[in-house]
Amino acid sequence: MSQREQFAPGTPAQGGFIPLSVPEIRGNEWQYIKECLDSNWVSSVGSFVDRFEHMMAEAVGTQYAVATVNGTAALHVALLVAGVQPGDEVLVSSLTFIAPANAIRYVGAWPVFIDAEPTYWQMDPQRVQEFLEDGCRWENGALTNKATGRPVKAILPVHILGHPCDIDPIVALARKYNLPVIEDATESLGARYKGQPTGCLGDVACFSFNGNKIITTGGGGMLVTDNTAWARQARYLTTQAKDDPVEYIHSQVGYNYRLTNVLAAMGCAQLEQLDDFVATKRRIAQTYAEALAGVVGITPMVEAPWAWSTFWLYTILVDGAAYGLDSRRLMGRLKEVGVQARPLWQPVHLSPAHQGAFTVGGSVAAQLNRTGLSLPCSIGLSLEAQQRVIAACAYLV
Ligand SMILES: *Cc1c(COP(=O)(O)O)cnc(C)c1O
Repeated sequence: MSQREQFAPGTPAQGGFIPLSVPEIRGNEWQYIKECLDSNWVSSVGSFVDRFEHMMAEAVGTQYAVATVNGTAALHVALLVAGVQPGDEVLVSSLTFIAPANAIRYVGAWPVFIDAEPTYWQMDPQRVQEFLEDGCRWENGALTNKATGRPVKAILPVHILGHPCDIDPIVALARKYNLPVIEDATESLGARYKGQPTGCLGDVACFSFNGNKIITTGGGGMLVTDNTAWARQARYLTTQAKDDPVEYIHSQVGYNYRLTNVLAAMGCAQLEQLDDFVATKRRIAQTYAEALAGVVGITPMVEAPWAWSTFWLYTILVDGAAYGLDSRRLMGRLKEVGVQARPLWQPVHLSPAHQGAFTVGGSVAAQLNRTGLSLPCSIGLSLEAQQRVIAACAYLV
């Protein structure tokens, strides 16, 4: 049977279903979680929470780390400690999972969506510059969006798909306009920008340990920073803003956002394996890049010269006219042969949930959404399974 026939539409999956990305649990997870259960330290205080925080601070290169119940909660608290107020505006990537835009709304602020650049698909520093220089003016000492009249208070770049943003020019602009930088590093744990880990490049950063991230606790997050006051405030806000733990005195409205010891135990075990996981993701990416380089109409994901990418979610661009099928039809064909693929997110400036927010550009993100397709890249993906995905992409049409 030719490869064309083998992967023809309707051919039943051979060798089983290949999921997009599933967790890899093969280290000390069982042992550490058992220690929690055996010692009865299961809740939001315990040695694994401290240990996980220390390990994360060390991995990222920040002074402080505060564990949270998920990455979205970490973003919410990061915006609060950075001083973002109701009615303020925050610059955020348009091409991202929706969580950071939602977190901006949680504090009553408004997103300003910044388009992606077309090469690495990250927040475009030129668009940031254009907005700050031409789209804003100073009014009574406040940097103000000319179009909305709202004050601009922070920049929230999202390092998507395991690849860092070109963040130096973004940080330089932030310094010039006195704006804090909140990195959404939820998809980029283990990635580096000019040798530095993502998460230590701005003023505060957030990570996620959701089930689909490079390491997982089932659900969990982390806020990291070098700012002592912000770290203290984050710890305070995530534990119901408790001033006196005996007398139940609270001088602010806090949140129940702490990670449990059981999940932190899993996090410690997962983080011990991060280097190995990144190496595996990079090997999977390399195999895809080499195999798909010659396929007309498919553009494999690339790594910037200044980047060390984890290739967390391996993604290709599909030129429908050149390839013969557009990204959604390729996704459908892959499904027929038991291969799960997924498009990139609807750019948030097009999301009904964020209708009316101010947008800077957006056509690049929209184009990436139309053409992008993420392929199976679990850490446990066998070479044989990957060859099936490659063959399906290369010979379907
Ligand atoms: C996963 C993710 C989050 C949120 O993480 P949760 O732990 O699921 O709340 C935030 N931002 C981005 C870009 C993400 O991919």
